[in-house]
Amino acid sequence: MWPDAAALANASAAEVITAWGRLGYPRRALRLKECAVQVRDRFNNELPQTYDELISLPGIGDYTASAVLSFAYGQRVPVLDTNIRRVLTRVFAGVESHGGSTKPQDRELAQEALPEGAEAAAVWNQATMELGALVCMAKSPACQECPLCDMCAFLAAGRPGLGEGRTRPRQRFQGTDRQVRGIVLAALRPLDSGQTLPKEQVDELWSDAAQLGSCLASLDEDGLIEIEPGGAIRLPR
Ligand code: SF4
Repeated sequence: MWPDAAALANASAAEVITAWGRLGYPRRALRLKECAVQVRDRFNNELPQTYDELISLPGIGDYTASAVLSFAYGQRVPVLDTNIRRVLTRVFAGVESHGGSTKPQDRELAQEALPEGAEAAAVWNQATMELGALVCMAKSPACQECPLCDMCAFLAAGRPGLGEGRTRPRQRFQGTDRQVRGIVLAALRPLDSGQTLPKEQVDELWSDAAQLGSCLASLDEDGLIEIEPGGAIRLPR
């Protein structure tokens, strides 16, 4: 659909929001388009290959910049997601990982553990992520099956504070503004370019008029929809 950054940058916001579909967090679709605009304009339509340039792009944080450098460009860079940080903290520091943002000591641990070669480092990133997702899980790590059990300081210490203060309660979805915003966008995606959803049909999308109104306003503020004076809505052009 969009073979390079310039093609995505030149697409309309409505096309990008429609293609995003039900992936969730639709503001990310617009951030991706903004990122494509900058890649086209500032970097001659090529995704940059340095951390500082990548991190300067909209929607690109530490994790994404590191993942691009390691997996796409084969550079020796640790990719610090939650799973890798949990494994490293447990194995080398012998304490429970409490999540939050990436700390300098997480990066130091990863730099020390990362293999020397760039190719081996990319494999290490993927393998350690997988280990954290499937074996060294947050609440119930399967230590008896873990290939690192002989060297894990956390296991040797008796797994002190296992699972403490790390998982946020799962947010319910039914009845939330996220659900209502999703319903509104789902009603707009099938429409032809520039076509509006009449106010009467908008009003039928959700029974709580106040919640619907506030969700429409927030979608408008986020640039995800446009509201016409009479109350009809459409995806942005
Ligand atoms: S031994 Fe247990 S705590 Fe240590 S890395 Fe393996 S699964 Fe995680």
